[in-house]
Amino acid sequence: MPELSIASLFPFRREVVESSHVDGEEHLRVIVRPDRRFRPRCSTCQALGTRIWKRQSREVRDIPIGPFRSVRMTVQYRKVSCPQCGKIRVQDLDVCDVGGARVTLRFAQMIAGLCKHLPVSTVAERYGLDWKTVKEIHKAALEEEFGTTDYRGLKLLAVDEIALKKGHRYLTVVIDFETGRVVWMGKGRSERSLDPFFAAMPEGIREGIEAVAMDMWQGYINAVSNWLPHAAIVFDLFHIVQNYSKVIDQVRRDAYREAGEDRRSFIKGARWLLLRNRENLTERQEVRLKALLQANEDIATVYVLKDQLKQIFRQETVPLMALALDQWCDLALSTGLAPMAKFVQMLQSHRQGILNYARHRIHTSKLEGINNKIKTLKRQHYGYHDEQYFTLCVKEALPGKSTGLEQVHAS
Ligand SMILES: [Zn+2]
Repeated sequence: MPELSIASLFPFRREVVESSHVDGEEHLRVIVRPDRRFRPRCSTCQALGTRIWKRQSREVRDIPIGPFRSVRMTVQYRKVSCPQCGKIRVQDLDVCDVGGARVTLRFAQMIAGLCKHLPVSTVAERYGLDWKTVKEIHKAALEEEFGTTDYRGLKLLAVDEIALKKGHRYLTVVIDFETGRVVWMGKGRSERSLDPFFAAMPEGIREGIEAVAMDMWQGYINAVSNWLPHAAIVFDLFHIVQNYSKVIDQVRRDAYREAGEDRRSFIKGARWLLLRNRENLTERQEVRLKALLQANEDIATVYVLKDQLKQIFRQETVPLMALALDQWCDLALSTGLAPMAKFVQMLQSHRQGILNYARHRIHTSKLEGINNKIKTLKRQHYGYHDEQYFTLCVKEALPGKSTGLEQVHAS
């Protein structure tokens, strides 16, 4: 049997194994030093160093090799005078980034790859690393891939807020509607929140944005009107129905207050029945819903009007949509219910953006994927407290429709 050369397991271009020894059953210790045939280069600018000042070493972890679960490497390196930087710099190495790395470059690459599929804690546990180290390695890899905003190909956008903590921490998210790619995420949900996104947008791209889907949220309306004065603002059905659900619930609560003691529990438990999509109800729930609607006229009316509200968005032209919208508002007002009057007022003051849906059939429902990702990351509490890391994880999770590049990457 040929003798195994340990050097072949550490095939670094400009460094060689000085010595190695087995430390316990599973631990391997290796000392690596620069190959003296190469003149040291500056790690900042790659220029050849003119004078060696100091020899130093750093401890890093390397990938597990065979039976050795942990491989600890002492990397010796030099500090050199860099003529280009005019300073003393650490020499450039192939094995690791001497600047602050805790692991070798090849180990970092492996960890980042595993983090695409496994939670940080699992990866950390498997390799006996601190989860913060694993997180930072993953973050650095993501930063390289997703750190800069990619504005290419943007024409239709969807903007929405996501709550990291309801009432406290919000992020604004911008999606490329056509591909579903998360283009940008930023802190807050105010008018100013979108400034960094629009300010860095190349002029040509800005002019090419045709429409932006959003909730009827004044901050976003102002931001988009300021930065993209020619783009159409489109209010989507999803948020309008969500707002209308609040009307239904208000009417239910008013009915509850006015109902006699005997019927109160009947109405109280009905919230969910009323807000859920009717197609998703079981037979028994459907029977209960029917009974409730028969018992209370106000609830029945607002409930039926929900379906008709959705019908507005099925119209294919602006005039047809406008007609449906006006008819709906008339019906809603005829109920004489105060929450309905308020809702109608809101629809009318956002009329143009609602009708724009006939021209640009875009919406924000694609953000659902993000909400699922948030739930996952909340369970893995780390990413969640580092907003920058969280943003990068979301971008990684929602890269949009494949362009074929990912497959090339994987092979
Ligand atoms: Zn330099």
